[in-house]
Amino acid sequence: MKVELIKTINEAKNVISFIFQPEKPLSWKPGQFLFYKIPHHRPDRRGIERHFTISSAPFEHNIRLTSKFLRQGGSTFKKALLGLEPGDSIEAYNIGGSFTVEKKEPSYVFIAGGIGITPYRSILLDLERADSIKDILLLYSCRDRESVVFGKLWDKMQKNNKGLSVNYIFEPQLIDKKLIEEKIRDPGKRKFYISGPINMVKAVQGSLSEVGVNEDKIVMDYFPGYD
Ligand SMILES: Cc1cc2nc3c(=O)[nH]c(=O)nc-3n(C[C@H](O)[C@H](O)[C@H](O)COP(=O)(O)OP(=O)(O)OC[C@H]3O[C@@H](n4cnc5c(N)ncnc54)[C@H](O)[C@@H]3O)c2cc1C
Repeated sequence: MKVELIKTINEAKNVISFIFQPEKPLSWKPGQFLFYKIPHHRPDRRGIERHFTISSAPFEHNIRLTSKFLRQGGSTFKKALLGLEPGDSIEAYNIGGSFTVEKKEPSYVFIAGGIGITPYRSILLDLERADSIKDILLLYSCRDRESVVFGKLWDKMQKNNKGLSVNYIFEPQLIDKKLIEEKIRDPGKRKFYISGPINMVKAVQGSLSEVGVNEDKIVMDYFPGYD
């Protein structure tokens, strides 16, 4: 399927969203991802394809791809993505992923590391629209305030939804056993989602096990390429 770039949005330091219009209506579940192919001159060994979470909610219709760009040492794929102009089209295909929310649990803890925040934009907007934000804590770990992605949206959503609480964890603080015990009452009774770089996701999973959260209460999404 072809998708056409409509515009880009600067989200935070070195983080940009690309808004694409699909050539025909597309359906996806909040939290899922798409593959993209961008053929370009002399690709590095990581090639011309990547997958990215769809950070837009299905009711927004357009596809939002939100990614982080390194000042130095970034891939040729990301350079090609950055080089796209409004009106350019690329290939997008294979929607997939099971980092999705069934809306059946009484309370959720969503944990994000860095650019791992992207699925929660789609998931939370969708839950808000269904009036299903009852008891959700978003724990968002990132470098500093300047690195917060979708910050204005989180402010607005917190104001409009009594059931949502957003906590930023800035470096050097970590989401470890101590922080989980401090921030979360009855962790054993909640459903956890963790999204971010592989090492961060594994470390948080380990801390959750230490405080007694069962494996079947943890859903994880690894973002390779950021460790
Ligand atoms: C389910 C899923 C959803 C994802 N969603 C998103 C998303 O919403 N946003 C997002 O930004 N990313 C997302 N990712 C990760 C994305 O697919 C890329 O892997 C990531 O953005 C890194 O991009 P890049 O490889 O172009 O490297 P760059 O971001 O340009 O650079 C990353 C750094 O890692 C180094 N590096 C890491 N691995 C290798 C390797 N194997 N070979 C060479 N160098 C390496 C690079 O040299 C560079 O220093 C997702 C991944 C998965 C699996």
